[in-house]
Amino acid sequence: MSGPERGADPGGRGAGREADRSPEAWGASTRSVWAGEEEGAEGATVPPVFYGVTFAYPDLDEWAAVGAGERPGHIYSRNTNPTVALFERKVAALEGADRATAFATGMAAVSSTLFALLEPGARVVSVKDTYGGTNRLFTDFLPAWDVDVTLVETGDHEAMESAIDEGADLVYLETPTNPTLKVLDIGRLARAAKDAGAVAVVDNTFATPINQRPLELGADLVLHSATKFLGGHSDAMGGVLAGDPERVETVFRYREIHGASLDAHSAFLLARGLRTLELRVARQNANALQVARFLAEHDAVADVFYPGLPGHPHHDVAARQMSGFGGVLSFSLVDGGPDAVKRLLSGLRLAHRAASLGSVATLVGPPATTSHVELTPEQRAAAGIPESLVRYSVGIENGDDLVADLAAALEGV
Ligand code: PLP
Repeated sequence: MSGPERGADPGGRGAGREADRSPEAWGASTRSVWAGEEEGAEGATVPPVFYGVTFAYPDLDEWAAVGAGERPGHIYSRNTNPTVALFERKVAALEGADRATAFATGMAAVSSTLFALLEPGARVVSVKDTYGGTNRLFTDFLPAWDVDVTLVETGDHEAMESAIDEGADLVYLETPTNPTLKVLDIGRLARAAKDAGAVAVVDNTFATPINQRPLELGADLVLHSATKFLGGHSDAMGGVLAGDPERVETVFRYREIHGASLDAHSAFLLARGLRTLELRVARQNANALQVARFLAEHDAVADVFYPGLPGHPHHDVAARQMSGFGGVLSFSLVDGGPDAVKRLLSGLRLAHRAASLGSVATLVGPPATTSHVELTPEQRAAAGIPESLVRYSVGIENGDDLVADLAAALEGV
């Protein structure tokens, strides 16, 4: 894949695309605007929101055929809903997948995928630096269900390959990682998973399908916290899984019964957010790079973690598998005490001191209250997450303003 600077049309397909008008040839923005769209009642160009929980069938045979899956249609919104299906079709188009299924939250996507595809006695190989909630599944919930979980040092690809070689049913990757922005080589680890007969799942929340498409790199399944960049406005929660249709079907069947279904209103907001995904992500990539470069030069800053910086230990892998380095970075201060971090955070004007990431507005916070709030200080230390780290998720503000804001707040430190 090409490097991060891909010109004015980063999601475009390059020369020759004018000749091919098929959806497969569309660029990312065309997909996110047009995929799954149908003109609605009265010719509405924005699809209506189907708030209805239940769908009526005056013809009982037709109802039975829909229930049996012999005809398309919807019966009950815990199972399927037209607005949710629109969101799913858009994500599938963006990830290059045949099928996607949506969930109430990102954690519902993660946990449904793991619980639907694993059974007692199965073995999972993953890394130490997954999102805090995912990490809790690995350390507490799956072992209690007699699933063997091996968590390897993040970024040690040899150790990961030998752990997979010892036998695995599922290889779970998250890249870039939260909050230290380590990068895993998806192609390499998906190959190892395939050789071991394991399913390769990638949490693509941080990268987005604009910057990284795990299925094209060899993964079987890709999932997101849609609450983050996909929705992009911090006003709706959701999760989504896309990829191998048989496995997506298995997880969908589990979710139908387990019940963590996405509601129509959130699906509408998430689908609306998706239509501007590429534009937002292009700005966020540029802002994060600008901010990371500024911080890397600043005397009060000790370390900056951003895969777009040439000094980042995984920069080469990131440049190979990503077309942009994403909108999240983290950094630590030379004076890393809690007071200095507090002074810095309270000095920022253009950042909500809040959990989450991937919004149009910049969000900032330490991992102890954001990504890894579920972990104890000891668990965070074991996962290699410094208490003094600051995670900074850029919004779509103007990069110069973010840099000026950080410069002023760092003066106060
Ligand atoms: N995956 C990653 C990488 C995340 O950062 C998060 C949340 O921060 C999740 C999954 C869980 O998503 P949600 O909060 O929507 O349940």
